[in-house]
Amino acid sequence: MLAILTVLAASVPYRTFAQADALEPKPPADPQIAAALTKISAQRIQANIEKLVSFQTRLTLSAQDPDSIKAGHGIGAAREWIKSEFESYSHACGGCLEVKTDSFTENPADRIPKPTVITNVYAVLKGTDPENAKRIVLVTGHYDSRNSDTFDATGIAPGANDDASGTSVSLECARVLSQMKFPGTIIFLTVAGEEQGLNGSTHFAKMAKEQGWNIEAVLNNDIVGGDRNPEQDPGVVRVFSEGVPLAATAAEERRIQNLGGEDDSASRQVARYVAEVGRTYQTAAKPLLIFRLDRYLRGGDHISFNEQGFAAVRFTEYREDYNHQHQNVREENGVQFGDLLKFVNFDYVANVARVNAATLASLAAGPALPGRVRMQTKELENNTTLIWEASAGAASYEVLWRDTASPEWEHAKPIGNVTRTTLPMSKDNVIFAVRAIDGTGHRSLAVVPQLER
Ligand SMILES: [Zn+2]
Repeated sequence: MLAILTVLAASVPYRTFAQADALEPKPPADPQIAAALTKISAQRIQANIEKLVSFQTRLTLSAQDPDSIKAGHGIGAAREWIKSEFESYSHACGGCLEVKTDSFTENPADRIPKPTVITNVYAVLKGTDPENAKRIVLVTGHYDSRNSDTFDATGIAPGANDDASGTSVSLECARVLSQMKFPGTIIFLTVAGEEQGLNGSTHFAKMAKEQGWNIEAVLNNDIVGGDRNPEQDPGVVRVFSEGVPLAATAAEERRIQNLGGEDDSASRQVARYVAEVGRTYQTAAKPLLIFRLDRYLRGGDHISFNEQGFAAVRFTEYREDYNHQHQNVREENGVQFGDLLKFVNFDYVANVARVNAATLASLAAGPALPGRVRMQTKELENNTTLIWEASAGAASYEVLWRDTASPEWEHAKPIGNVTRTTLPMSKDNVIFAVRAIDGTGHRSLAVVPQLER
């Protein structure tokens, strides 16, 4: 009996897609977004990943002198190529992208033996509406790579999956979405220094915080190559999100201890939004929500954004093969080690890029979040009153709710263009949120209310 169970466990991966499809009314698909998703190209993604692998190593400590850049070796060459790629997309859209670098010298640290220049490369598709353009959604991947030794600056480190795949998602989203116009702003980011300690993303997220950027959502793609191992499921992409926010204040932690909310960080609302978008556009890679900051023993660039108080999630393939990550390219007893091109499933990367593009486009097309959402808790009562501030671009609002033990929103009640509503339901029994809807049905992220006494 035990043997049978073991076999079943290996061949039928456990997963839950929840009961979430019960939500009514469902957000409609936007035909323009649906058309854009068809333009995302597995061939383009393959060419980009092949190009990134061709630099031999993209270790953050590898060469970035002019001769190496010219020879096409090392992280400097990768950086210059990414920049030129973004510039070519901008050329194709009449200069619609602002291509920028965020470059700094990192001081020696654990995995950085000497002062090292680290450069993030990004492209900004500025929103067309002055008010909404202040809202930013961001997609990122890390273009640095590594092999078994985080200090090996010259050895081969192809990093085809980790993380040329994620870098190619940022690039391909930029190429396709720059052909469209959105009221909100989209940033396509590629960072370095991930493998040395999240250095690039930490610098970028701190800069965004210091400069007061209004980033609504960060999508971090890291290891989305769909490694071709027998237990891979190319129909699934995992979406990791923090529970209790890393940036929670002591007061927020106390409220969560008393009243719940450990499953309602802003990052988790992004994750739920991704899952919903996946259903709306019937993406071939289905988002599988993992209510966890990251995998065991691992971290990633979304954490840098979470630490600065931004909502950020991580996309990763369903089943990783650790022989193909952070390993020197070699064969041992007939087993091939190394993060090689041949293990990457380019159709899968394109499918993950479609989930990302649909999420970025829906958020950038949609209205701003309702502001200062509050729930009245002045007295004991079985009704619930919610109040908020009007958001730019909203034509109406809806209240969402779910059972406290349910992973995704189960009910939606359209309530028109108002900023206050009272429902004959007890706040003790469900979790509420409010979101904005524009004239054509795009939804904002859901906002869970603060208490108003
Ligand atoms: Zn990685």
